[in-house]
Amino acid sequence: GNKNINAKLVLLGDVGAGKSSLVLRFVKGQFIEFQESTIGAAFFSQTLAASFERAKKWVQELQSQGNPNMVMALAGNKADLLEARKVEAEEAQTYAQENGLFFMETSAKTATNVNDIFYEIAKRLPRV
Ligand code: GDP
Repeated sequence: GNKNINAKLVLLGDVGAGKSSLVLRFVKGQFIEFQESTIGAAFFSQTLAASFERAKKWVQELQSQGNPNMVMALAGNKADLLEARKVEAEEAQTYAQENGLFFMETSAKTATNVNDIFYEIAKRLPRV
Protein backbone atom coordinates (compact mmCIF):
# COMPACT_ATOMS: atom_id res chain seq x y z
CA GLY A 1 0.00 0.00 0.00
CA ASN A 2 0.86 3.65 0.16
CA LYS A 3 3.47 4.19 2.82
CA ASN A 4 3.45 7.95 2.53
CA ILE A 5 1.98 9.94 5.35
CA ASN A 6 0.41 13.30 4.69
CA ALA A 7 0.70 15.79 7.48
CA LYS A 8 0.25 19.49 7.81
CA LEU A 9 3.15 21.42 9.27
CA VAL A 10 2.61 24.88 10.72
CA LEU A 11 5.46 27.09 11.89
CA LEU A 12 4.54 29.57 14.58
CA GLY A 13 6.69 32.26 16.09
CA ASP A 14 7.59 35.90 16.10
CA VAL A 15 8.29 37.81 12.94
CA GLY A 16 12.00 37.46 12.32
CA ALA A 17 12.42 34.26 14.29
CA GLY A 18 13.52 32.47 11.13
CA LYS A 19 10.51 30.37 10.11
CA SER A 20 10.86 31.06 6.38
CA SER A 21 14.60 30.53 6.64
CA LEU A 22 14.20 27.11 8.27
CA VAL A 23 11.86 26.00 5.50
CA LEU A 24 14.15 27.37 2.80
CA ARG A 25 17.13 25.57 4.36
CA PHE A 26 15.23 22.29 4.65
CA VAL A 27 13.59 22.35 1.23
CA LYS A 28 16.29 23.95 -0.91
CA GLY A 29 19.42 23.82 1.22
CA GLN A 30 19.77 27.59 0.95
CA PHE A 31 20.07 30.51 3.30
CA ILE A 32 19.47 34.14 2.46
CA GLU A 33 20.66 36.82 4.81
CA PHE A 34 17.90 39.39 4.46
CA GLN A 35 18.03 42.89 5.89
CA GLU A 36 19.24 41.80 9.28
CA SER A 37 21.85 44.57 9.48
CA THR A 38 19.20 47.22 8.81
CA ILE A 39 17.17 46.15 11.81
CA GLY A 40 18.27 48.11 14.86
CA ALA A 41 20.30 46.14 17.39
CA ALA A 42 17.96 47.03 20.23
CA PHE A 43 14.93 45.76 18.38
CA PHE A 44 16.80 42.65 17.38
CA SER A 45 17.80 41.67 20.91
CA GLN A 46 14.33 42.52 22.18
CA THR A 47 12.95 40.11 19.61
CA LEU A 48 15.35 37.35 20.69
CA ALA A 49 14.34 37.77 24.39
CA ALA A 50 10.61 38.02 23.81
CA SER A 51 10.20 35.30 21.17
CA PHE A 52 10.64 32.43 23.64
CA GLU A 53 7.95 33.86 25.90
CA ARG A 54 5.59 34.24 22.96
CA ALA A 55 6.36 30.72 21.81
CA LYS A 56 5.15 29.50 25.20
CA LYS A 57 1.82 31.23 24.54
CA TRP A 58 1.47 29.32 21.28
CA VAL A 59 2.16 26.07 23.08
CA GLN A 60 -0.56 26.83 25.64
CA GLU A 61 -3.00 27.80 22.94
CA LEU A 62 -2.40 24.63 20.93
CA GLN A 63 -2.43 22.33 23.92
CA SER A 64 -5.78 23.74 24.98
CA GLN A 65 -7.17 22.38 21.68
CA GLY A 66 -6.28 18.88 22.86
CA ASN A 67 -5.60 17.24 19.50
CA PRO A 68 -3.95 13.89 20.29
CA ASN A 69 -2.47 13.60 16.78
CA MET A 70 -0.51 16.80 17.04
CA VAL A 71 3.27 16.68 17.24
CA MET A 72 4.89 19.80 18.60
CA ALA A 73 8.53 20.78 18.39
CA LEU A 74 10.31 23.83 19.73
CA ALA A 75 13.14 25.23 17.64
CA GLY A 76 15.67 27.47 19.35
CA ASN A 77 16.74 29.06 16.10
CA LYS A 78 19.74 31.31 15.36
CA ALA A 79 21.92 29.10 17.52
CA ASP A 80 24.89 30.42 15.53
CA LEU A 81 24.49 33.85 17.13
CA LEU A 82 26.37 32.85 20.25
CA GLU A 83 26.92 36.29 21.73
CA ALA A 84 23.27 37.28 21.27
CA ARG A 85 21.91 34.31 23.19
CA LYS A 86 18.98 35.21 25.48
CA VAL A 87 17.73 31.76 26.41
CA GLU A 88 19.96 29.03 27.81
CA ALA A 89 19.55 25.68 26.12
CA GLU A 90 18.91 24.09 29.48
CA GLU A 91 16.01 26.43 30.24
CA ALA A 92 14.35 25.67 26.91
CA GLN A 93 15.01 21.95 27.29
CA THR A 94 13.44 21.89 30.74
CA TYR A 95 10.42 23.81 29.50
CA ALA A 96 10.04 21.42 26.55
CA GLN A 97 10.23 18.35 28.76
CA GLU A 98 7.67 19.70 31.19
CA ASN A 99 5.28 20.45 28.34
CA GLY A 100 5.68 17.32 26.25
CA LEU A 101 7.41 18.87 23.26
CA PHE A 102 10.78 18.15 21.90
CA PHE A 103 13.38 20.86 21.61
CA MET A 104 16.35 21.43 19.36
CA GLU A 105 18.62 24.38 18.86
CA THR A 106 18.75 25.09 15.15
CA SER A 107 20.45 27.41 12.73
CA ALA A 108 19.03 28.03 9.30
CA LYS A 109 22.28 29.83 8.56
CA THR A 110 24.72 27.01 9.31
CA ALA A 111 22.13 24.23 8.76
CA THR A 112 22.66 22.89 12.28
CA ASN A 113 19.84 20.50 13.26
CA VAL A 114 17.52 21.71 10.51
CA ASN A 115 17.06 18.36 8.80
CA ASP A 116 17.07 16.73 12.21
CA ILE A 117 14.15 18.69 13.62
CA PHE A 118 11.96 18.10 10.57
CA TYR A 119 12.83 14.39 10.53
CA GLU A 120 12.20 14.12 14.23
CA ILE A 121 8.72 15.57 13.73
CA ALA A 122 8.06 13.09 10.94
CA LYS A 123 9.19 10.18 13.11
CA ARG A 124 6.72 11.12 15.80
CA LEU A 125 3.68 11.39 13.55
CA PRO A 126 1.07 8.84 14.50
CA ARG A 127 0.69 6.10 11.91
CA VAL A 128 -2.98 5.38 11.55
P1 GDP B 1 10.34 34.70 9.82
O1 GDP B 1 9.70 36.06 9.90
O2 GDP B 1 10.13 33.92 11.09
O3 GDP B 1 9.93 33.91 8.62
O4 GDP B 1 11.91 34.97 9.75
P2 GDP B 1 12.88 34.94 8.46
O5 GDP B 1 13.08 33.55 7.97
O6 GDP B 1 12.41 35.96 7.47
O7 GDP B 1 14.26 35.42 9.12
C1 GDP B 1 14.40 36.71 9.69
C2 GDP B 1 15.86 37.14 9.64
O8 GDP B 1 16.65 36.29 10.45
C3 GDP B 1 16.47 37.10 8.25
O9 GDP B 1 17.33 38.20 8.12
C4 GDP B 1 17.25 35.80 8.23
O10 GDP B 1 18.35 35.86 7.35
C5 GDP B 1 17.70 35.71 9.68
N1 GDP B 1 17.88 34.32 10.14
C6 GDP B 1 16.98 33.32 10.05
N2 GDP B 1 17.46 32.19 10.59
C7 GDP B 1 18.70 32.49 11.04
C8 GDP B 1 19.72 31.75 11.72
O11 GDP B 1 19.59 30.56 12.02
N3 GDP B 1 20.87 32.42 12.02
C9 GDP B 1 21.06 33.73 11.72
N4 GDP B 1 22.21 34.29 12.06
N5 GDP B 1 20.12 34.47 11.10
C10 GDP B 1 18.96 33.85 10.76
